[in-house]
Amino acid sequence: MSNDNISIHDFDFNLICDYFSHVERQGPGSPEVTLQALSFIEPLTETAHIADIGCGTGGQTMTLAQHCPGEITGIDLFPHFIDLFNRNAAAHNLQPRVKGIQGDMAALPFGEEELDLIWSEGAIYHIGFEKGLNEWRRFLKRGGFIAVSEASWFTVERPAEINDFWVNAYPEIDTISRKVSQMEKAGYVPMATFILPENCWTEHFYAPQVAVQEMYLQQHAGNSTAEMLIREQRRERELYDRYKEYYGYVFYIGKKI
Ligand code: SAH
Repeated sequence: MSNDNISIHDFDFNLICDYFSHVERQGPGSPEVTLQALSFIEPLTETAHIADIGCGTGGQTMTLAQHCPGEITGIDLFPHFIDLFNRNAAAHNLQPRVKGIQGDMAALPFGEEELDLIWSEGAIYHIGFEKGLNEWRRFLKRGGFIAVSEASWFTVERPAEINDFWVNAYPEIDTISRKVSQMEKAGYVPMATFILPENCWTEHFYAPQVAVQEMYLQQHAGNSTAEMLIREQRRERELYDRYKEYYGYVFYIGKKI
């Protein structure tokens, strides 16, 4: 492919992925929260097959793997994240049963009723919460579980500034009760929901980005797309500080019946 064929979107995507490959997590979360979500899942066996969809570099996957048996396949669209994921698995001595593959969440490479558990932190929004729940269901065995985290409103009304920001970024953001009802409608028993604590954003997501932003701006000095990306990340953080009572990430855990 010649450079002429690379669209600005591909270029942006590479810049974004490059930026996020420098941090352990690509979305809000923490090891404690991963384990809290896992506590709602019925015990798995060594023959279990788990998929972590939109796994990124695998921060949460390694936590999961250290606390449950079975084989885990991490899937992400971005090959560089998968390289880092597989290095991460090897560094944790988990490579025999934790494997990252490049793939698209809209065309998962699993068979019908192959999976015991579908995991996805901060990623289902790429396909859309409702669509993801509906399309991924067929890959789960009956009695299998799904655990996803998703941006959600905490209140029915909120200030226009934050409302407009999110509706523009992710129009499917909605209240917890609406998301639970979508989960029910998609054919799952809603087993649990809980709001991720603030430190998943501040300590685990935004704080590690501060040093990366400085390095990144130096590395891409004069690149207006890179500068815009950092400006957007900083603005997102400011908005979070100002409006965190109104929204956040919520874990939704469901069981296929
Ligand atoms: N689960 C990780 C990463 C969340 S960021 C964490 O919590 O840290 C969302 C991830 O979804 C990114 O790694 C991005 O590359 C991936 N992604 C985006 N679109 C995708 C698609 N269509 N199929 C698979 N992965 C995708």
